[in-house]
Amino acid sequence: MESLNPWVGTLEYFDEAAGLMGLDRGIHEILRQPKRSLIVSVPVRLDSGEVTVFTGYRVHHDVTRGPAKGGIRYHPDVSLDDMKALAMAMTWKCAVVNVPYGGAKGGITVDTRGMSSGEVERMTRRYASEILPLIGPNRDIPAPDLNTDEQIMAWIMDTYSVNIGHSVPGVVTGKPVSIGGSEGRPEATGRGVMYQVLSAFKTLGMGVDDMSVAVQGFGKVGGSVAKLLHDQGCRVVAVSDVTGGVYNERGLDPEALQRHCRVTGSVVGFRSADTITNAELLGLDVDVLVPAALQGVINESNVDDVRARIIAEGANGPTTPAADRALNERKVLIIPDVMANAGGVVVSYFEWVQDLQAFFWSEEEVNIRLRQVMERAFLEVYRMAMEKGWTMRQAATVLAVSRVAEAWRSRGLYP
Ligand code: NAD
Repeated sequence: MESLNPWVGTLEYFDEAAGLMGLDRGIHEILRQPKRSLIVSVPVRLDSGEVTVFTGYRVHHDVTRGPAKGGIRYHPDVSLDDMKALAMAMTWKCAVVNVPYGGAKGGITVDTRGMSSGEVERMTRRYASEILPLIGPNRDIPAPDLNTDEQIMAWIMDTYSVNIGHSVPGVVTGKPVSIGGSEGRPEATGRGVMYQVLSAFKTLGMGVDDMSVAVQGFGKVGGSVAKLLHDQGCRVVAVSDVTGGVYNERGLDPEALQRHCRVTGSVVGFRSADTITNAELLGLDVDVLVPAALQGVINESNVDDVRARIIAEGANGPTTPAADRALNERKVLIIPDVMANAGGVVVSYFEWVQDLQAFFWSEEEVNIRLRQVMERAFLEVYRMAMEKGWTMRQAATVLAVSRVAEAWRSRGLYP
């Protein structure tokens, strides 16, 4: 049985790319480990007056190309290995779209469901102050991820600024526009996935109209992907969240589904749709499958059920290496996470640039620049994959690793 530990899978993809490109052994060894990992305990006073202690992490994988960049996740599965894997993936993600950042990831092992807003705020501020030595606009710039949002980014920005003594908008991205956030950031990751799917359609000679799409996860990424692909003319036939899924062969209306979710807290029960499970959604006969929830959901145990022609990885690490091999043998086009979901970090980079210059762009400008970056990355990776006979993931990883290795060679090893 294959390992579902994300660190094992992420290393396997990296080692494979290193072999394909003949990576220098020293640089390979350096990049197989994170540069630094911080584990913090996060004591929080609950509304009841009791104190409970959570464990938090912040990992920097590599910062050779610029400050560390990566999201903060609140989830019961958060572990050091999870953070190491996601931080390494961030290094490759920033390099594949060529933004001048290194990779980081952080999080707290916590289930925030049932916590009050005050408890989440106190936990966030304590965590931010515990990781204060690592973060900063020139060092490490956190962003939202699973179960974290612009409010949480605002609390981190405020905690950092109060400690430093002046406002520092560039310490986080994905914050509200009122304190230096960027137009277009909330849906940037989903928009980036959409541009990549459109590029795949074009490259494969497929039209856009009526292409069927299934999306797992209806949060910041999945919700935006569903809406944006629907707006392009695709038929979003199924969507799911942690509670289950809904299916309608004629297509769902993602905006009506959003309204339903706001009222009921879940996609299940949406009118004019059948209820399906997350497992059934992954096995639907669709043109495009967008896993946009958790890692490891397409694995050895269910890969034979997957029937999609294109898989656009909105989530980080949704496909295990064994499943990836099986899908590639069946000629399924996989747009790998390090490229598919890079739209968020691209617009985060735009947000940081705007913060440093204190000069802000319109949403149209943001989207035009995002589109250019995502289309260029897709073409670069697709051409490399075709030329070398590699998968899209192999080509994306080799392209990314070669940029990081080049930076290492230019800077040299100190001392
Ligand atoms: P989110 O918290 O906004 O949404 C997550 C969604 O997944 C929710 O609808 C939730 O109900 C669903 N979900 C959770 N557990 C599930 C399960 N077991 N089965 C099915 N659905 C489940 O999170 P998000 O920001 O949309 O992130 C989703 C994925 O995208 C994560 O892997 C994250 O690392 C990745 N990602 C996010 C961003 C970003 O900008 N937010 C950028 C790049 C990658």
